[in-house]
Amino acid sequence: MAPNFPDAGSAALFQQIQGILHQARRPLVLTGAGLSAADTAGSGGLGTFQDSESPWIKARDPAWGSTAALKRDPTRFWTWGLELLDAVAASRSGPLPGHEALARWMAGHGDRRLITQNVDGLHRRTLRSVGVDPQDRILEIHGTMDHLRCTACRRQRALPARAELRPESPPTCLACGHLLEPAVVWMGDLLDESQLQQAYAWTEAADAALVIGTSGNIQPVGDLPRRIAGRGHPVIVVDPDPTAFMGIATHRIIGSASEVLPTLLHT
Ligand SMILES: [Zn+2]
Repeated sequence: MAPNFPDAGSAALFQQIQGILHQARRPLVLTGAGLSAADTAGSGGLGTFQDSESPWIKARDPAWGSTAALKRDPTRFWTWGLELLDAVAASRSGPLPGHEALARWMAGHGDRRLITQNVDGLHRRTLRSVGVDPQDRILEIHGTMDHLRCTACRRQRALPARAELRPESPPTCLACGHLLEPAVVWMGDLLDESQLQQAYAWTEAADAALVIGTSGNIQPVGDLPRRIAGRGHPVIVVDPDPTAFMGIATHRIIGSASEVLPTLLHT
């Protein structure tokens, strides 16, 4: 039984979209902040970058979310940094029907891949939870809050226990002693070149795109579905709001990921 989403038009059209996703040989999923926000709404969750109450809003402001801000005042930076980590932890405590539906859909199909702008690590965790190694299946193109990165030598380490992170004594690199920051890409920073090359390679190989909860305004993710559409392949957009992908979407489903994906990807 297909849900009654206005732009899907009819149960037949919804089934057609299911068929496209089922038959695509190398579908590529792109997800953004809207996925986590939709799935955790009401459970003290992450919030989108647009939510002014969220600590994430500061992540877009270089006065807070930047290596320079960390170096200027490490204690101020890490006071906010712990708010961010707590927001991530809260988002993991709630139900994640959108993430879980995607993970089940990807399991057993090695050519189904996902690129996310989200730094909460939820796709990696849910994929692992269904027994799939996220390596070569998921790209976290904006990095992850699960790791810390040295501001000098760039070495990464797993996030220490919450109790070990104290703003008054900010974490430092075991190798070189310089300050550590969350292993994310700050606004204005360059993306990791090898990840970028991988993202373009997956995009060139893709024969369908499923775009969820991303406005399309942030590059390069905004550019990837256009490339897939440009080769004549279907682009399916799932979002409660209009996005920059409206002009290239071949199919659009209005709704949140947690509403739509469990049914859409159920086969
Ligand atoms: Zn270092």
